[in-house]
Amino acid sequence: MRCFHNAGIESIIIMVERQTKRKTASNSPTSYTGGVTIKSRRELAAMERAGAIVGDTLTLLKKSVEPGITTGELNRIADRNIRSFGAVPTFMGYHGFPAAICASVNEEIVHGIPGKRALKEGDIIKMDVGATIDGFIGDAAISVAVGTVSDAARQLMADTEASLYAGIAAAQPGKRIGDIGAAVEGYAVARGYGVVRQFVGHGVGRHLHEDPQVPNYGEPGKGVLLRPGMCICIEPMLNLGTEATTILDDDWTVVTADGALSAHFEHTLAITKDGPKILTAHD
Ligand code: MG
Repeated sequence: MRCFHNAGIESIIIMVERQTKRKTASNSPTSYTGGVTIKSRRELAAMERAGAIVGDTLTLLKKSVEPGITTGELNRIADRNIRSFGAVPTFMGYHGFPAAICASVNEEIVHGIPGKRALKEGDIIKMDVGATIDGFIGDAAISVAVGTVSDAARQLMADTEASLYAGIAAAQPGKRIGDIGAAVEGYAVARGYGVVRQFVGHGVGRHLHEDPQVPNYGEPGKGVLLRPGMCICIEPMLNLGTEATTILDDDWTVVTADGALSAHFEHTLAITKDGPKILTAHD
């Protein structure tokens, strides 16, 4: 996977899924063969259930973060909570990913594998959670301070979350994917951050990564039209340094190439006729 990362792992994953699904499309009516899916009212209700479980799990994780806790313990807390609702952790086994959540610390941007690492005062941790229930998926991420962190780290996290909300505000029916990316990028670049371009947001539904891709950069008025019934994940990854990324030898963990801090926030939202509706709200 690593050798392809310049093309963007998420786009590779979409390509692999398409190829895999094509083979089975004839015997499964629910196979995803690419393209934007528009959810029915019933499907949106299932998306809301999945999103609520993700939001609840993120709230619990946020309360659980403290110096000394390991990323593996956070993973167990999330796994147990997701399953307590009768849902399953979407990421477990996804293209071989070995855990329920991604846990990425400091210069790790996304896709960190939980394990024995204990969090230290001053770290920032990004936790990305997926839950599947009734066949539909919610996916969201937060960045959390471990104890007291530097002013720069605190500001990075606040600005990354604000850039997510700038993107969400732009996700209006009748607008286009490029409007979202332009809003996120505009907010981030004005504040001097590196905007990660090799990993992008995505459509979501029965599959974790559906069309369209939702980059954190773009041109207003360009790209796929946003229509009621679409569900997408917006997930800005902002760096204190440059946008360049590297993947560690575990073939999953994405880090900043220059070792600078990175923050990540993500929500799943539904496009409705009245505007974007966040499905993964948390406290
Ligand atoms: Mg996502």
